[in-house]
Amino acid sequence: MKAIRIAIDGPASSGKSTVAKIIAKNLGYTYLDTGAMYRCATYIALQHHYQAADVQLILKELASHPISFAKAADGSQLVFLGDQEVTSAIRQNDVTNNVSWVSALPEIRAELVAQQRRIAKAGAIIMDGRDIGTVVLPDAELKIFLVASAKERAERRYKENLTKGIATDLETLKKEIEARDYKDSHRALSPLKPAADAIHFDTTGIDIQGVVAFIQEKAEKIIDMSC
Ligand code: C5P
Repeated sequence: MKAIRIAIDGPASSGKSTVAKIIAKNLGYTYLDTGAMYRCATYIALQHHYQAADVQLILKELASHPISFAKAADGSQLVFLGDQEVTSAIRQNDVTNNVSWVSALPEIRAELVAQQRRIAKAGAIIMDGRDIGTVVLPDAELKIFLVASAKERAERRYKENLTKGIATDLETLKKEIEARDYKDSHRALSPLKPAADAIHFDTTGIDIQGVVAFIQEKAEKIIDMSC
């Protein structure tokens, strides 16, 4: 069976990572959360009080404390920076609200995109982010662009945060999501946008299983065709 590459892009909290993880499990594919990688770079910047002008120092830290992923006993994904587990640290509000300036730095993008392409080389991969279909894997066999209303995305993130014990206010969350979308879509380099050949899917009012079924059916068709 031919292994394909699946690119899922879309704005914050559009459900990308949740569905990508399920599809990866169903197909036996590797899942790569590229947002977690930009969050790791942001975590480093905040820990060391680095600013944009310190980009070389952020890269140096990334080189000496490489990003890696592992599976927890319950099957969830753990994120490491060197030996340090940063899975929940990179989801905290300070990282979320600073990630857009770090991810807009060309040197950071060049390094992380190179790492992402290396990981994707073996195929059988599903990657989610903002520029996967346009920049990281422009020749991916399947490209999906997920959207959902900002209101619904804020509600999803609110519920997710509650289960993680992160305190947030729904209205603030909606404003932060809109601000992050704006910055991600308007940056000069690799802005959030659909690839010309991406399939658009609006997940507003659609549950996770519905989104999984939609994408997985498309993936299986391509896999079958290439047998
Ligand atoms: O997907 P997640 O919300 O965790 O991504 C965090 C941030 O990382 C995004 O808001 C964006 O600034 C950045 N990002 C990016 N390119 C990607 C994935 C994420 O610029 N491929």
